[in-house]
Amino acid sequence: MTEAQLLSGKTVSESVYKSLIPRISDLKENSITPGLAAVLVGDDPASNVYVRNKTKRFEKLGLFTDTIKLSSDTTEDELIKLIEQLNVDNRFHGILVQLPLPKAMDNQNVLLAINPKKDVDGFHPVNLGLLTAGTPSFIPCTPKGILRLLEHYNIETDGKNVVIVGRSNIVGRPMSILLSLKRNPGNATVTLCHTHTQNQKDITRSADILISATGIPGSISDQDISNDTVVIDVGINRVEDDSEKGYSIVGDVDYNSVIHKTSAITPVPGGVGPMTIAMLVENTIEAAESTLSK
Ligand code: NAD
Repeated sequence: MTEAQLLSGKTVSESVYKSLIPRISDLKENSITPGLAAVLVGDDPASNVYVRNKTKRFEKLGLFTDTIKLSSDTTEDELIKLIEQLNVDNRFHGILVQLPLPKAMDNQNVLLAINPKKDVDGFHPVNLGLLTAGTPSFIPCTPKGILRLLEHYNIETDGKNVVIVGRSNIVGRPMSILLSLKRNPGNATVTLCHTHTQNQKDITRSADILISATGIPGSISDQDISNDTVVIDVGINRVEDDSEKGYSIVGDVDYNSVIHKTSAITPVPGGVGPMTIAMLVENTIEAAESTLSK
């Protein structure tokens, strides 16, 4: 069997950033600096890292970003009031509310408060509805990044069996809709597995492309795939170890087990993660560009 191809989000995201440079320059010539407001509620360490990584990239590209940190006892009303202010603040073309929110808050109420035109994460029901109708506006960043990776490496989805494990609103479900749309990448026969799925192994073994987004480290091994299945590992999971940091980051997939069987695989880190950030930047630039045509 030939060696598995590494689907490098690091490499592909760099080419995305390169392609965005002329668009950023055009906006700046029109006195527009694309801006992102990132809202972080509470002190979840992983969320802190994600927001820092995202905003660092905005700064590197000369874009405007501001992170608003709120304490974990912030009420839903207070958060919604802040979002309403950001909706009318012209410095910000995109608003990101980092999930998960504290348990006392209703995600849906909060996401509904974001102006859909600034919803660069693509989680607002209007944007999810447009996606379902096959006329997407802002596409959620992780599924969009996966499509871009597949496109970059010429991985055909048309007519293929794609199995997605995990049905969250931010990854699995929008991914399943996008890949079943009549477009390219798309046109796939999609099966969405979740915690109530029976005989999951039989299903995943039928996959030409397997996408795992469960957040369960090691939940996909060579026993779950067939020869040459393409494996996309969305998982970003902290596992405690003896290192200085006290933990390492692993995906959902047991990499060492599947590497001998798969034809192509995303590493963790360096696979889907960098693509998610690149798509957030791209969506923010799209949002800024849409203010130009007014
Ligand atoms: P989530 O907890 O909201 O959803 C997990 C889904 O997996 C649920 O639908 C659940 O039904 C399903 N599931 C859990 N265990 C399962 C099992 N054993 N078999 C079948 N289905 C199972 O998680 P999420 O927010 O979608 O994130 C999933 C993983 O992806 C996490 O590790 C998260 O950190 C990571 N993530 C990565 C990126 C990225 O940029 N790479 C972006 C978002 C999330």
